[in-house]
Amino acid sequence: MTTVPAWGTHSPQEALNSLSIERREPVADDVDIDILYCGVCHTDIHFAHNDWGYTVYPLVPGHEIVGRVSRVGSGVTRFRTGDLVAVGCLVDSCRKCHACQDGLEQYCEGGLVGTYNSPDYRHGNAITYGGYSKRIVVNENFVLRVPDSLDPAAAAPLLCAGITTWSPLRHWNIGKGHTVGVIGLGGLGHMGVKFAHALGAKVVMITTSPGKAADAKRLGADDVLISTDPEAMRAHGRQFDFLLNTIPVSHDINPYLPLLRRDGHMVIVGALDALQGQLQAGALVMQRISLAGSIIGGIPETQEMLDFCGEHNILPEVEMIDMAEINEAYARMQRNDVKYRFVIDMATLT
Ligand code: NAP
Ligand code: ZN
Repeated sequence: MTTVPAWGTHSPQEALNSLSIERREPVADDVDIDILYCGVCHTDIHFAHNDWGYTVYPLVPGHEIVGRVSRVGSGVTRFRTGDLVAVGCLVDSCRKCHACQDGLEQYCEGGLVGTYNSPDYRHGNAITYGGYSKRIVVNENFVLRVPDSLDPAAAAPLLCAGITTWSPLRHWNIGKGHTVGVIGLGGLGHMGVKFAHALGAKVVMITTSPGKAADAKRLGADDVLISTDPEAMRAHGRQFDFLLNTIPVSHDINPYLPLLRRDGHMVIVGALDALQGQLQAGALVMQRISLAGSIIGGIPETQEMLDFCGEHNILPEVEMIDMAEINEAYARMQRNDVKYRFVIDMATLT
């Protein structure tokens, strides 16, 4: 074990602060990574505040990690010291079930190990600690390669915000001829807009914030719909094939369903809690509409997304922060004041 400097919290009420964690010595198929940058996901806030009731403290968040390989175990074949690599939301899975064999490790039936707040059953059930730290040790199968052409700081949010929006767009074969509505212009939403646009779809930003309209168009939206304007919502009825819903809190989806045309889909990626209001089943039944959810993405599709970003020079819009600014960053995200992802420069963790 090695002691590693990190930032985390001991309770839902406590601000994040510096602490020390233990990382295992790399075993044969492990990659030891010096963390350069870590993105700040809204999920980090949900865990820090124990919004979903299963946070184990101390918590060290962070699952949008970019770093450099500092050493590799004796059996590692895919990475070498000095490689620019990334780690997302997963650091292990059972590797045997149907989901794992299909490269959809995020739906593992036999035991998923999250990058933080997860018992690591191959390593004595130690609770995993995330990327708000100087180093991480990860099995090589869960390490991604960052294309050389990408700015490593700006690339960090691809590891969660990127893949979480890429995966459903690809699964539902979104492309030319489709009209996509991305609901919520935050970390996930801004990547949803960029990807849907790059895949050839017509993109409409559906936002509660009229002040974000110009940004939405700069990011690739063809049109902007203000969701709090009932008249505008009515005028956009039956115009969408696909709605990507990134709203981070419990909310009523009923006002959005009439936006979908026949055979349209709404995919929820933001809210995990019970939704508000009663689902108007008729809205689904009358137009054969489906309601689905999706979580992050598997390792092969995460690499596919990184390579696509490398080829098309697609990067998140980031605001760099020092480690000590993390509590202010959380407060700003909760005030809806981030354009559009904070990234921590890990050199500032001393
Ligand atoms: P974020 O940066 O805070 O952005 C969320 C956006 O949603 C806001 O910018 C805002 O956009 C909109 N919004 C916020 N409150 C709203 C409300 N009450 N009603 C309507 N719209 C609202 O958050 P994020 O990092 O993108 O994460 C979004 C959610 O996805 C979080 O809950 C996170 O935990 C979850 N998540 C899920 C996965 C997954 O795999 N499924 C992965 C990562 C994150 P406008 O100003 O444009 O309205
Ligand atoms: Zn995330």
